Amino acid sequence: MNHRFGSPSRRVAALASAVASLALGAAPSLLLAATAPATTPAGPAATVAGYTFVKSVGGIQEYTLDSNGLTVLLVADHSAPVVTFQVTYRVGSRNEVTGTTGATHILEHLMFKGSENFNDPKGNSVKQFLEKVGGQFNASTAVDRTNYFATIGRESLEGYVAIEADRMRHLWLHEADRQSEMTVVRNEYERGKNDPDSVLVEEVTAAAYVALPYHHPTIGWRSDIEHVPIAKLHEFYDTFYWPNNATITVVGDIDAATTLGFIKKYYGSYPHSPQPIPVIYTEEPEQTGARRVVVKKPGELGTVLIAHKVPNGRDADQPALEMLDAILSSGKNARLYRALVDKGMALAAGAGTDLHRDLSLHSMYATLAPGASHEDVEAALLAELEKIKTKGVTPAEITRVKQQYIAADAYKRDGTAAVASEINEWIAVGDWTLYVTFPQKVQDVTPADVQRVARQYFSEDQSTTGWFVPVPAAEKGK
Ligand SMILES: [Zn+2]
Repeated sequence: MNHRFGSPSRRVAALASAVASLALGAAPSLLLAATAPATTPAGPAATVAGYTFVKSVGGIQEYTLDSNGLTVLLVADHSAPVVTFQVTYRVGSRNEVTGTTGATHILEHLMFKGSENFNDPKGNSVKQFLEKVGGQFNASTAVDRTNYFATIGRESLEGYVAIEADRMRHLWLHEADRQSEMTVVRNEYERGKNDPDSVLVEEVTAAAYVALPYHHPTIGWRSDIEHVPIAKLHEFYDTFYWPNNATITVVGDIDAATTLGFIKKYYGSYPHSPQPIPVIYTEEPEQTGARRVVVKKPGELGTVLIAHKVPNGRDADQPALEMLDAILSSGKNARLYRALVDKGMALAAGAGTDLHRDLSLHSMYATLAPGASHEDVEAALLAELEKIKTKGVTPAEITRVKQQYIAADAYKRDGTAAVASEINEWIAVGDWTLYVTFPQKVQDVTPADVQRVARQYFSEDQSTTGWFVPVPAAEKGK
């Protein structure tokens, strides 16, 4: 399965690539924005017994299934006869503790091993079904959520809903499957360990968060991946896989009443979770000074990563941080590009924020050019931050990055699967309506907002700085 750890919309694992800004260079036509929902009906698109209509924002309709608290979002797009059906469970690695780190992700793998009524022996497992009807399906795990989704012809919707619903409460959880998937997951873990930037992100994140469970990597710690008992996975499943901990998003060529009818037919018999979904009450203690980590492993190029904690992804300062990051790293006119790449100190440089349900992490990074020193590159990154704090940004810069944002945003919303994926991330952050409202909030950001957030969040005492120092393979583990 596909695994995206973190908030894909603005994530730092793009670290190694030549900066998120390159994607902007390939921005599509603005006409793509026309694929976004165009109308905003004031009331429900359908009235179906057993549902409560909650709200409609930007053409997206929210309903709740009364019997068990399942949330349903409907996004009609009749431009092609396809539908993306997605279930987002509000469980991620933030819900794990030592001993069960990686459990969310292992469970995601086991969700494809069959359920009571849909499985390989019966010839109707999710994979067999999708092969038969055609379409794309996948799943992914991140810190705040796990999602399962398929993009199929509209005539196959009911068949897929039936399978997805069955594995919400009737999953097979067999020890033999855990063992075989454990080796698959361990291979994923090893791949991550062989990627210097991924290791650096992991170590900086673990140092930045000492109490919040974001401390743990989503893939888990190796010993937990290997040893977590099947009973613990059962417990995890029985704690979090309930309708009242899930949001279904259906995007595409749908009829609202028919779609709500399918969902009620297959999910309606499940009860509300017998126990409340556990709430995380841990808070991150105040950081009282700068933190540093150094990672030495075989590799080609050094990296500097400077992280600061910023508010949760729903916070009103996030749009200004988005624009700050764009000014630093979006396109070849971006400040970090000019200060580091143009001057030959770095091969790539960028900035971004992982949007989380709780305290989020902002990062600036640069991949060292051969011959450049970590000290110089770190100083150059910090100097650019300091310039924004003391001198601010210009209206022309803000205007430029706002235009780029519109183009990149349209690209991210192109097609039913892309729309579902973006909504998924805002569900994880805790407010799906930001999918609709965030772009306008970005357009409202002023130069003064950018300077204010830079001053507020980026002090040295609140920083966690990581260096990746490549060493010859023979020195590994010295
Ligand atoms: Zn995986």
